[in-house]
Amino acid sequence: MNTDVLVIGQGISGTWLSYYLEKNEIDHFVIDQENPQSASRQAGGLINPVTGRNKVKTWMADQLLPFCLTAYQQMGTCLGTSVMDTKTIIECFTNPEAAALFSRRVNENPHYLEIPDDYPIQLDLFHNCKKLGLIRPAYVVNLPLLLSNWRARLRRFGKIGEYNFDLNQLIETDKGFNYQHITCKRIIFCDGASIQERNTWAKIPLAPTKGEALVLKIEGLPSSFIYKNKLTLLPLAETDYWWVGSSYEWAFEHAGPTPLYREHTVKALKKWLAIPFEVIEQRAAIRMGTMERRPLVGFDSPEKKWGLLNGMGTKGCSLAPYFAFQLVENMIRGSVIDPEANWTRFQ
Ligand SMILES: Cc1cc2nc3c(=O)[nH]c(=O)nc-3n(C[C@H](O)[C@H](O)[C@H](O)COP(=O)(O)OP(=O)(O)OC[C@H]3O[C@@H](n4cnc5c(N)ncnc54)[C@H](O)[C@@H]3O)c2cc1C
Repeated sequence: MNTDVLVIGQGISGTWLSYYLEKNEIDHFVIDQENPQSASRQAGGLINPVTGRNKVKTWMADQLLPFCLTAYQQMGTCLGTSVMDTKTIIECFTNPEAAALFSRRVNENPHYLEIPDDYPIQLDLFHNCKKLGLIRPAYVVNLPLLLSNWRARLRRFGKIGEYNFDLNQLIETDKGFNYQHITCKRIIFCDGASIQERNTWAKIPLAPTKGEALVLKIEGLPSSFIYKNKLTLLPLAETDYWWVGSSYEWAFEHAGPTPLYREHTVKALKKWLAIPFEVIEQRAAIRMGTMERRPLVGFDSPEKKWGLLNGMGTKGCSLAPYFAFQLVENMIRGSVIDPEANWTRFQ
């Protein structure tokens, strides 16, 4: 089989790359060994305009949010189903210091933050909730729906191989590569945490972190909002199902769920939520990032044979569409990839 681009991985990065390749009528083939434990299949799907306890504006939020809104709407049209919802985040303040900090941030960032005069929910859904702040717009991507529908589309067109890609079997030629029965001009790696298993990108200071989360059943919590104190509680597509997370661990023994995380989170939830909840599922995955929290995008050389779309850290849902677009534009038209994101910054 001959193709222009071989894409390794169909998480959120590989999905968006495949989308923009298809949009530009570039023939490609995706290899992805479906792994339910990959980051994209464990994530909450939140796109948040502000970050951290200090509510600092997310890197490139003013460009990323409008880009994502249009991109996910177009993706929804292509798949015939909506894959993203717009939500408001409700920040619950249990002490005056947190409320005062948020008020200061409202002055700096009124476009995304607000202290409302009227509260859109009953404060007694939460223990000790004295005041609320609003963060908007935020988006929630339905990752299971998006990934499975894009995969089904690739299957329909015979454009996916659902097996493990073994780098040892890749043969570089003058014109590109041969991999088993596939001949291609370029190869682009969107393989998330598996990047650690190859020494192709040895100069890149990778920073993998582990994230854990829980899926809960909660009845009576309005699902038009996302709720935040130290935890983030976001509604899943199924009625009364919620995702709560997540941890950010630099040191970990394995990539799987731990009893300790479950215990701590249930304890924190009991202190926060004033209505009953049931734990349905526990999730965990490794997110691949970099020390300076910028993605890894680009090609190795002007010939553009080896490409990379990875390092999305905690923000794959907002970074993947934007940088998949940049990567494809760079490949076709030679347009510039944001220097902060171009992985050749490490060359
Ligand atoms: C608990 C948790 C919560 C998170 N919450 C959010 C959130 O709310 N919002 C947000 O934006 N981000 C969130 N993230 C981060 C987000 O999940 C990542 O940024 C994103 O999923 C990375 O996507 P990716 O496609 O680059 O990599 P991955 O999701 O890891 O995808 C890589 C794909 O490549 C495949 N693959 C790898 N190696 C091979 C091989 N050799 N052969 C074949 N296939 C291969 C894997 O099976 C997988 O399908 C969260 C992460 C975690 C862990």
